[in-house]
Amino acid sequence: RARQHPGAPPQFFAAEMNLWTRERLDLETRLRRALEAGQLELYYQPQIDLKSGQIAGVEALLRWHHPQLGTISPAEFIPLAEETGLILPIGDWVLRTACEQARAWRLAGLPPLRIAVNLSALQFAQAGLVQRVEEILADTELSPGELELEITESVLMRDIEGAAQTLRTLHARGVSIALDDFGTGYSSLAYLKRFQIDRLKIDRSFVRDICADPDDAALTQAIVAMARNLHLSVIAEGVETSTQQRFLCEHGCDEAQGYLFSHPLPAAEVTELIAAGHPLARTQETLAAEPF
Ligand code: C2E
Ligand code: MG
Ligand code: MG
Ligand code: MG
Repeated sequence: RARQHPGAPPQFFAAEMNLWTRERLDLETRLRRALEAGQLELYYQPQIDLKSGQIAGVEALLRWHHPQLGTISPAEFIPLAEETGLILPIGDWVLRTACEQARAWRLAGLPPLRIAVNLSALQFAQAGLVQRVEEILADTELSPGELELEITESVLMRDIEGAAQTLRTLHARGVSIALDDFGTGYSSLAYLKRFQIDRLKIDRSFVRDICADPDDAALTQAIVAMARNLHLSVIAEGVETSTQQRFLCEHGCDEAQGYLFSHPLPAAEVTELIAAGHPLARTQETLAAEPF
């Protein structure tokens, strides 16, 4: 217990700090146990090819089912996992589980799907990442082309040379890379060329007001046009309405992901969706033929 000395925070403040630290420690302990206790689950959200309306891939999204606290959002516990380093074992589990699921889908005779996995900054920077990815691909007999890793701009900007090297190595192995939340970071566009990137994911915040805010519409159009010129694939996140879908179609966006097509779902439900083989979205042609 800290002794009072000049300059120490007043007692009430210290007490609050203690409460805060205790809650955090508590959450950390719970998170540490969550993995072993089997409280973590991957949901999968379909990514739709806008031309055909078919599922092109799925993004794995982590869920924590706590027996008392209920389902905790990754937005809440990923930052904590990142700070404490717990993201390394958790991220490893995510990568392996997602690849095993992709293998299970293939063994079940479903059409091949790309599987996208989010990587945190710490994971991306860890020594031996490429080796871990290779091991998991070998163990699950997945072809590298079926795996996509999602990273954010800020992850790249931390160590530009190191990141470029890691991306080159992953690319050489055939694993593809998507730049998540694109447009929200501060990366220089000049870097886009230097990094081996396959896909841009237009951030949800631009897509949301695409039909109402001319600035967001212009930005989205510019990102799609830039992606095409750089021969990158482009996907829009957070698509919730068919008006947004139509805008994206008309401006040449390749793929879309969002509640309009499907929420993130447990593996079994995604299996049913894929097995049914129905397009999840109306195609570009049918949309164009419909009145607004
Ligand atoms: P993200 O990678 O940008 O994932 C997209 C988020 O948008 C997901 O939130 C998804 O559920 C949500 N979303 C999808 N469609 C819509 C829509 O139409 N409307 C709205 N409002 N939201 C939509 P989620 O699952 O809560 O994940 C939040 C973030 O947590 C992810 O953002 C990602 O950064 C992180 N995350 C999730 N799973 C993992 C993981 O396995 N590893 C790491 N490192 N981070 C993860
Ligand atoms: Mg993502
Ligand atoms: Mg995103
Ligand atoms: Mg996001």
